[in-house]
Amino acid sequence: MATDYDAVVVGARCAGSPTAMLLARKGYRVLLLDRAAFPSDTLSTHFIHQPGVACLDRWGLLPDVVASGCPPVRSQSIDVGPFALHGSAPAVNGVAEAYCVRRTVLDDILVKAAAAAGAEVRQRFSVHELLTDGDRVIGIRGKSAGGTTVTATATIVIGADGKNSLVARTVGAPVYRDHPTLTCAYYSYWSGVDVTHTELYPRPDQMIIAGPTNDGNTMVIVYWPASQFHEVRGDIEGHFLDALELAPPLAERVRRGTRVERFSGTGTLPNFFRKPHGDGWALVGDAGYHKDPILALGISDAFRDAELLADAIHAGLSGRTGLADALAGYEQRRNDAAAQGYENTIQFAGLAAPPPEVRQLFGALRHDRTQTGLFFGTAIDTYPAEEFFAPDNIERIMASAAATGVAS
Ligand SMILES: Cc1cc2nc3c(=O)[nH]c(=O)nc-3n(C[C@H](O)[C@H](O)[C@H](O)COP(=O)(O)OP(=O)(O)OC[C@H]3O[C@@H](n4cnc5c(N)ncnc54)[C@H](O)[C@@H]3O)c2cc1C
Repeated sequence: MATDYDAVVVGARCAGSPTAMLLARKGYRVLLLDRAAFPSDTLSTHFIHQPGVACLDRWGLLPDVVASGCPPVRSQSIDVGPFALHGSAPAVNGVAEAYCVRRTVLDDILVKAAAAAGAEVRQRFSVHELLTDGDRVIGIRGKSAGGTTVTATATIVIGADGKNSLVARTVGAPVYRDHPTLTCAYYSYWSGVDVTHTELYPRPDQMIIAGPTNDGNTMVIVYWPASQFHEVRGDIEGHFLDALELAPPLAERVRRGTRVERFSGTGTLPNFFRKPHGDGWALVGDAGYHKDPILALGISDAFRDAELLADAIHAGLSGRTGLADALAGYEQRRNDAAAQGYENTIQFAGLAAPPPEVRQLFGALRHDRTQTGLFFGTAIDTYPAEEFFAPDNIERIMASAAATGVAS
């Protein structure tokens, strides 16, 4: 059947724009739609770990992030109460820096890159329904900025439309490995707060994270158990400042700074995978795989899955394999790549105090920046947990700490 496009992509942020860009770069006819206009913010903080930055680098977009003035983040600290551990997560494909770039900046770079690659971009365009032929999705119907009803047909409709995805709901994409919301979170931005790297303060039933972002500002986010959402929402600033008091080295700097934006947050952070493909449709980013943001994996995962999906669609549309087989391979690769990060997320989002053996390990890591960096890498799945936690490696860390007299 002749179609208007090879692919229509619904949603133009971290998942949709890269998918559209990569398909357009391969020569496909792509329509990219979003009801938002860019640049615009969205409910999200924006740490991008090394795997996500490596994607931006590979796509030629990292210079645009650097040019935005967002400072690179070269190390992390985790304040475990009596002391802080310092280290740098391992480089990925030669990329050692992370960035905490505002979504107003990042998403605009991504949309422009999709347009530059040849995708047709329509902003302020709301998709209202999918066009179908029997069980097969064949296109979309929606309203353009001017209120005109528009239809567009495509070989594949891609839902990059976030966790409440219209595409996923319309096709009834099956959900699996789901887990209820574990945390709620609020964040804001301060000027005049000296934070040069990512600072984490895990506290029982709370997690406080700060990082440097655009315009010389510092982003601070606090996580609480989901059960406390209504209480926190009743007095966001009061609860936020109370939480900060549990992180005195940060609280002192924040008190001296000026809050420059309102608080944003949510108590809806479900954890789930959706089957990301079917006849004439596919899902990418949060639409297909959503999890608590506590480990800041969403943007990097959306980038990774955009590449996996674009490769699969190319394999299918170029006739190298059947499209259905290629999309089944995409689901398998996504799930394999996401498995450890998902498991870690569920564990960290429990906001539990670390068990005694982990506290002992923290004591031993105190003056070992190299091993601390690898430990950070296990949390974000850029260093194999089985290697770091191998008994002989743990013994080595303990022995080295004992030899230098720092184990506690
Ligand atoms: C509080 C919070 C903090 C977070 N912090 C981090 C972090 O530090 N690091 C990190 O990596 N991730 C973080 N995340 C997760 C991250 O925001 C997501 O994983 C990421 O935004 C997913 O991108 P996406 O493109 O899949 O979806 P989205 O960013 O949700 O974009 C979906 C787009 O689809 C559009 N759309 C939806 N429906 C339609 C429709 N019918 N018609 C037209 N357009 C439509 C929307 O307008 C939107 O622009 C955080 C999330 C939250 C909530």
